[in-house]
Amino acid sequence: MSKIRFEAIALSHKRKRTVVKEKGRRSELFGKNVFNADQMIQYLTKDALKSVQNAIFTGSKIDRKIADQVAEAMKTWAIAKGATHYTHWFQPLTGSTAEKHDAFFDLLNGQALEKFGGGQLVQQEPDASSFPSGGIRNTFEARGYTAWDPTSPAFIYGTTLCIPTIFVAYTGEALDNKAPLLRALHAINAAATDVAKYFDKNVAKVNATLGWEQEYFLIDKALAHARPDIILTGRTLIGHAAAKGQQLDDHYFGVIPGRVLDFMCELEKECTKLGIPVKTRHNEVAPNQYELAPVFEEANLAVDHNLLLMDVMDKIADKHGFKVLFHEKPFAGINGSGKHNNWSLLTNTGVNLLSPGSTPMKNLQFLTFFINTIKAVDTYEELLRSSIASAGNDHRLGANEAPPAIFSIFIGTQLGRVLDELEGVSKGKLSPEEKTELKLNVVGKIPEILMDNTDRNRTSPFAFTGNKFEMRGVGSSTNCAKPMTVLNTIVAKQLKDFKKEVDALIEKKSLKKDEAIFNVLREYIKTSKRIRFDGDGYSEEWQLEAKRRKLSNNKTTPKAIQVLTSKESLALFKSMNVMNEIELRARQEVELETYIMNLQIEGRVFSELVYNHVLPCAIEYQNKLIANVLGLKDIYGAAHKKLSNGQSDIIEQIGEHISELKKKTDGMIDARKRANIITDSNKKATSYCNGVKPYFEEIRYHCDKLEQLIDDKIWQLAKYRELLFIK
Ligand code: ADP
Ligand code: MG
Repeated sequence: MSKIRFEAIALSHKRKRTVVKEKGRRSELFGKNVFNADQMIQYLTKDALKSVQNAIFTGSKIDRKIADQVAEAMKTWAIAKGATHYTHWFQPLTGSTAEKHDAFFDLLNGQALEKFGGGQLVQQEPDASSFPSGGIRNTFEARGYTAWDPTSPAFIYGTTLCIPTIFVAYTGEALDNKAPLLRALHAINAAATDVAKYFDKNVAKVNATLGWEQEYFLIDKALAHARPDIILTGRTLIGHAAAKGQQLDDHYFGVIPGRVLDFMCELEKECTKLGIPVKTRHNEVAPNQYELAPVFEEANLAVDHNLLLMDVMDKIADKHGFKVLFHEKPFAGINGSGKHNNWSLLTNTGVNLLSPGSTPMKNLQFLTFFINTIKAVDTYEELLRSSIASAGNDHRLGANEAPPAIFSIFIGTQLGRVLDELEGVSKGKLSPEEKTELKLNVVGKIPEILMDNTDRNRTSPFAFTGNKFEMRGVGSSTNCAKPMTVLNTIVAKQLKDFKKEVDALIEKKSLKKDEAIFNVLREYIKTSKRIRFDGDGYSEEWQLEAKRRKLSNNKTTPKAIQVLTSKESLALFKSMNVMNEIELRARQEVELETYIMNLQIEGRVFSELVYNHVLPCAIEYQNKLIANVLGLKDIYGAAHKKLSNGQSDIIEQIGEHISELKKKTDGMIDARKRANIITDSNKKATSYCNGVKPYFEEIRYHCDKLEQLIDDKIWQLAKYRELLFIK
């Protein structure tokens, strides 16, 4: 008999703590392994430093001679720190990061040396032909190359110098998540800077900022390895609920278990050296669930840091005998994991454009960006929803633990009142009385700290939280570049339109600047009302109300990503120079393919679990019971019935579940076969979604019933109580 589960439990109990001592302050450790501004000042020539700083600030190109100097400096710095290899570090459409290491070591006329020049820094051609491209690279002349992104500093991880890069086809199309994000950030910078200049001529740049909050599960490594579903799909496909779940709320914000704290300490130390400004750690709602949040950063850097964090977490968890789960729903019946994206806009003069200020003018600036964001989300709510769609996240959105698939915005009663008053402003020129009233009693009254937004609505997918918006539906495994690309693009488009309208009013109707702004904002408040919702996003009524408001409610990924290639989306991304039609179609294709493959793999693992684990266990135990009944009959003859009633009952129950389980599993396999022969990926994804996936719940039901009926000694898959409560 296999003993894998019990061996795993024994291993998990025997684990020792690996305490990581921290010497010195975090601030001294911060960025030690990053080729950041401090290092650049030390290692770069004046010209090179200026050129890189320019590239970071304005996006200007770095010429080849300068690149050679930067490369030489990076090499010297990296080798001094023990690096032996370098790699371009990029984000293919798989959602995670990719790297291919090359040694600095080289031979020149038989002479061994360390080499790294501008050529290697600026551009590489990894033979990365196996990454998904959604058809962009079907023609083999359209190969892909990686190109240096100087706005995200190089860093050393292990003994490798990692250079953040974009990944694009020679024909120019983006093959990654970073290139479109950089274009979207460029667009928001241009649009927001123009609008910010209404209020302060000195603004020369606006950065989008992102502060993510990463949720995850940590389970014992040995127990994870006793679950083929966790290893192959990242989640438990079956498993009866533990007698105790999260109902006592005794894990949330509780004392962090020792071994977990050791992991966190080492993780934070590594992150700090890598320049990831980690700040907050705590237990989350579900047992064995945790969260980590950094100080917010410029969005591109924050995205890179989140991806790097996930990678570092994997490795450090392994060292501490854990497996980290980033899946959005690793366990049924308890909370899944998300990754809130806190977003705002920050000027180079240090002003948060979504922060109310101390003067009416500052507040008008705040209202401008605030209302334009609301308007943008209203216009493109369906597109924003599509940016967080994935097979994993489908389990979570709307499951009473995360916001629904319907996008709406929570702004709180205080700001709601301000918008209501602004809506009443009269059209055209404002009378002096009206101006005074606005200044003193409406705009002037927005407090710098918004009290009711600290206690905000947890059920809202897009909440204003005092000085930033918080996008709550993002899945824990998602690359934040996806929602950030869409959000920044739609707000950029909106701000651009706003500027046009305001300028037109100033020019044609000779309105004063603030009058024109009030006029346009008033119309936006009127036309974007349907997106505002402060009520319970989990409720039944909201589903109905949202339908009346004609808000989209796309509950599954195949449906949610249709909008990517709608006429409006194509026009939007084209007009903002973020993605062309080829790129959008490719992304949609990749999303569909990924969805199909996820469900296909889950379906296959289901078949294996049922036929190789659950059914054999069920039959083994049933046989034991049958032998028992027959034995009793041998001894007691006809009188045995009274004594074997219970056993017979269980034999029957097991038999019924076995037969149902086999039926459902075979049904699922047939449905998979039907889906697999479809060539159109949209139809195929829909077939997996509507034809295959519904079987999963039914199969699970019988598996879980059997788990409950069968002798614990026979069951070889780690149980929920072990996965969730062994720390
Ligand atoms: P919580 O939402 O858990 O109550 P906070 O509101 O303090 O916590 O902040 C949550 C996250 O918001 C943090 O990751 C923080 O870095 C981020 N954040 C704070 N201000 C901004 C900002 N201006 N732009 C983007 N993110 C921000
Ligand atoms: Mg939060």
